[in-house]
Amino acid sequence: MQTTTGNQKLVKQINKKIVLQTIKDHGPISRADISQQSRLNKGTVSSLVSELMEEHLTYESGIGESKGGRRPVMLLFNEQAGFTIGIDLGVNYILGILTDLQGTIVEKKEVKYFEGAKYKLIMKYLFEVIEYLINTAPDSPYGIVGIGIGVPGIVSKEGHVLLAPNLEWDDIPLKEIVENEFHVPVLIDNEANAGAYGEKHLGAGQNHQNVVYVSAGIGIGVGLILKNELYRGLNGFAGEFGHMKVELNGTKCRCGSHGCWEMYASEHTLLELAKSHDRYVNEELSLEYLVEQADKGDTTAQDLFEHIAKYLGYGISNLINSFNPEQIIIGNRLAVARKWIEKPMTEMIHAHALRFHLKPLQIDFSQLSVYSASLGVSTFAIEKFLNRELQMIE
Ligand SMILES: [Zn+2]
Repeated sequence: MQTTTGNQKLVKQINKKIVLQTIKDHGPISRADISQQSRLNKGTVSSLVSELMEEHLTYESGIGESKGGRRPVMLLFNEQAGFTIGIDLGVNYILGILTDLQGTIVEKKEVKYFEGAKYKLIMKYLFEVIEYLINTAPDSPYGIVGIGIGVPGIVSKEGHVLLAPNLEWDDIPLKEIVENEFHVPVLIDNEANAGAYGEKHLGAGQNHQNVVYVSAGIGIGVGLILKNELYRGLNGFAGEFGHMKVELNGTKCRCGSHGCWEMYASEHTLLELAKSHDRYVNEELSLEYLVEQADKGDTTAQDLFEHIAKYLGYGISNLINSFNPEQIIIGNRLAVARKWIEKPMTEMIHAHALRFHLKPLQIDFSQLSVYSASLGVSTFAIEKFLNRELQMIE
């Protein structure tokens, strides 16, 4: 008897999630069309819709077109029922966004600092950005439903940043720290996983099932979408290709090894190489500055991008040979230099990937621009909130 009751409860929760998802994906939609699409009977749909309306997750909006008979009342997902905060915590910036429950950006805040910034300063900026976004959130029934933070490092399931070599962070219980400060559910994830998820759900990866997302910033991370699912590996540590070896006697990396890909193809390396040029000696070097110079016809800047792009393509050819993906997406900071890196990178890929792996293969840049990771963690936060509300087991 116990089991039957348990099962009935579970079936109801699953049905409710299906109804909400149908409204979220296809609204405005009538009860009859939900019933048809979900194959749930009309009575079940009606009672679940009533519950969702009481919970402020759905509302009725006007009258729809008649398909013969009475004109139906249309239902919409209440994307303003609550808001999430998505943070892309980079090595030299924090980019925060406030989104509604559909993943639309309502407000943003960015702080930039120099590579090598200390933990205390970064945490101060992080709290300031979160506080600003909380204060600008419109009034809503649920308020801030979650904070997601993408970090360039290895993250445990408990939300500890176990290791982030480029931030010099070592076992930081970030989830706990931020939850204690703001009393809102917090999730921490690797920024490349978040970026891959963001692009898959809202950006360039929506039509592909097997996607390799290359997050090229100060370091390099890779997020893998395999058969439509984010592949995390046993403990969530998959995708550390920034430390894939591309040179036997290569440059020492902050991970302790030598010859890692990110020592050759990252924003960090671009800036280091630029520093060694006399012409930039008095400049405050940044990626944006170098793009501007390249656009103005500065051949030194153009050559620097070409150099980085070749290594980027060299590493990507290894990923293509390993995963045989349908699509490669280049995201994060270096994507802003698309004009200067796309051609040499693509040429390297075509020269070094196995020819069987190149057909068909789509090479794209992120569609969400610099927001792939922040929108990715926001999407995680929205999903967690809805699962909590529908009492689904996670
Ligand atoms: Zn390394």
